[in-house]
Amino acid sequence: MHEIAIRMTRRNHNAFVHLLGALESQGFDIGDLLVTKDFSEILRANPKVVLYSFFTEEIWDVEKEIEILREKTNALLVAGGHHATAMPKHTLKMGFDIAAVGEGEELTFQLLTALKKNNFKLTKDLMEIKGLAFYLNENFVFTGFAKVEDFTKFPPFAESSHLIAPIEISRGCPFGCYYCQTPYTKGFRMRHRPIDQIVKYSRRMRDIRYITPNAFAYGSPGATLKLDKLEALLRALQPLRKEGRRLFYGTFPSEVRPEFIKPETLELLLKYADNRRLAIGAQSGDNELLKAMHRLHTTEDVKQAIEYMLEYDIEPVVDFIVGLPNENEENQRKSIEFMKWIIQKGGKVRAHYFMPLPGTPWARCKPSPLSEEMKKFLGRMAAKGYIEGSWGVQIELSRKLQRLIEEFYEESPSYVGEVKKIC
Ligand code: SF4
Repeated sequence: MHEIAIRMTRRNHNAFVHLLGALESQGFDIGDLLVTKDFSEILRANPKVVLYSFFTEEIWDVEKEIEILREKTNALLVAGGHHATAMPKHTLKMGFDIAAVGEGEELTFQLLTALKKNNFKLTKDLMEIKGLAFYLNENFVFTGFAKVEDFTKFPPFAESSHLIAPIEISRGCPFGCYYCQTPYTKGFRMRHRPIDQIVKYSRRMRDIRYITPNAFAYGSPGATLKLDKLEALLRALQPLRKEGRRLFYGTFPSEVRPEFIKPETLELLLKYADNRRLAIGAQSGDNELLKAMHRLHTTEDVKQAIEYMLEYDIEPVVDFIVGLPNENEENQRKSIEFMKWIIQKGGKVRAHYFMPLPGTPWARCKPSPLSEEMKKFLGRMAAKGYIEGSWGVQIELSRKLQRLIEEFYEESPSYVGEVKKIC
């Protein structure tokens, strides 16, 4: 019988795979855990604890499951992930008993160990564990944001599990774009997994893929290029390619900042990796808006990056956000012009509608409506296959997020203290 279940999904797969590695490396027997993507299996197992991890965009689906678990089991329900970190009080309101706030490797180990010891009861002993929010005798308890000094202490996957996922090679980001949760959940300093570990665990993958906010910033504190470190990593991976594995670097599920696309970095990519496309964020075709969102690059930087990529025969996949706060028709026209230019040059555009996320400086900023011209343009280009993205469904989701943040607003705990508020 399993006492602890992990509710895996397509979206939290990578996080839980890594967490299993962290638990195992701290001495937790992960054979004791029921890890499943099948919700009915959890109901049948009737465990004493169920662990969830999810994004704010998913809360409406998660709520349905929590209601069923509440009705059919007595399990203690624990939530981690972006939503629990940014809105712990709301997470408890959803029906969870405990919200895990911050980096999860150590806190999950401590929590599960404590719960096993006290027969899965929510007691005051849990107040000793950093990174927990819960109600004790109707009083709200928050033990502080959990930070992991060195995430590379923990392997990316568990030795005893067949589950693998793209390896998180770097964590944190110094750029602080106002719509993004990363710096506030993982810190402004980029931290990197050492090369020998990356090589060791990459051996378990046939197609090697990584998680990093900026693949070409490997080895640096984040804002500068350390070409020697980047090359050292890519070079060290070559024996794996010779054994038949393919290396995808700077593309799904990671990306590269435009200013890091230079002839030197592209030459490394051609020499050492298998992908011939790179994902970069342009976000807007208007410098005024890039400044407003604190992107810290200009449209000229993006243009230059795209020109370089084309010169090296690498397909640019360029992200845009439409419906940004205070974006008017003129700003949108500039984005349309920029997207047209990219498409004419042979690049791909991925369009997203602005979604206010809790725990970001733009959490309470309102999305702007799309102009008729923008709607028509996106529709036409999508039909022709030049633009991908889910901006259509994101419009409705964005409205729901806005309502949620307004109704249940709370100050988000963060890695860096207070989250800046722009709206
Ligand atoms: S959007 Fe990318 S560059 Fe900007 S803060 Fe987030 S991770 Fe960093």
